Order: sequence, then structure tokens, then C-alpha cells
Amino acid sequence: MKPRFEDVRIRHYPDPVLRKKAVGVTQFDAELADLADQMFAIMAENKGVGLAAPQVGQLIRMFVMNPTGEPESGIALINPELHDVSGAEEAEEGCLSLPGIHIQVRRATEARLTFQDLTGAAQELEGVDLIARIWQHELDHLNGVLILDRMGPSDRIATRKTLQALEEGYRTRK
Ligand code: ZN
Repeated sequence: MKPRFEDVRIRHYPDPVLRKKAVGVTQFDAELADLADQMFAIMAENKGVGLAAPQVGQLIRMFVMNPTGEPESGIALINPELHDVSGAEEAEEGCLSLPGIHIQVRRATEARLTFQDLTGAAQELEGVDLIARIWQHELDHLNGVLILDRMGPSDRIATRKTLQALEEGYRTRK
């Protein structure tokens, strides 16, 4: 039988997989847990605080996060949904799929997240500031949205060359 998750590796802009909408998870099994483990490893290797499944080429609604970098604070969130979003603040964000790019993004500062864990059990968390920001950034990935879609005119100018280099790099690798 063909494995459910193949070719798990970080995908950089402008890989088209980053623009697709991910589908909900219905099977909570060892393969899903194994994918989450691989994503934790890739996130740690790249010193990221969050990584969504589409960023490793898997179009399912799951992301992992670890805001402190300590192994015990890593968490996998499946079929996440944001609720009670409030507040607004602009802060700099980067993205493992956009190396070298940093963009000021306006996000809500408070939110509640419902999701399922790796066993399929329903969970709920409340988050503020960085945590709420990571949720919003990673949920964007599950809907094919990148921070590029949220940047203002000055970042558009500042990132132009780096984006062109990423686009060229993608073309020549293919
Ligand atoms: Zn990202």
C-alpha cells in the first residue's frame, strides 16, 4: 500500500503546494503521528516556531508549533479553528517557506483555538500575542495564504529582490 504521506520536506515559495487549500483530517493513526514527528524535527532544524503540513508538501489540516524551542512544549494541532478573535497588533513575521523574508503583519492579539490532538480528541486553547500570532499564521497556510498576501507597500518594495531570487531558484531546481 502507498504510504499516506510521501516526500516530506520543506517547500519554499513559489512551490504551488503552498497555494492550495488543505483538507480536514479524518484518520488519526500512526502515520499521522509519524508525519507530526517529522514536522517537529524539520521545524527544530530550521529554528521555526510553527510549521504547517502544506509547507512539507502534505495538504492536510495540521500544524505543529513550539514557541519556546523546548521539546516538551511542542504541540500538534489538527483540524484547527479560530474563535473569539480580538485585538490587533503589527509585528514582524518570517516563514520557513520564505527564507530571508521578514514582513510586518497585522494580526489579532487574542484568540481561542479548537482542534483535535493526534488521538483525535477535541481540545481547546486560549492564546495571546505570539501564540495567537502563530495560530493565525499557520491557519493561513492551511488555506493557501502566505504572509506575502498581507504585506504593505514598503515591504513589497523591500522584499522584491529576495522574492525574485526565490522564484529563480525554484525554476532552476525543477
Ligand atoms: Zn509560514
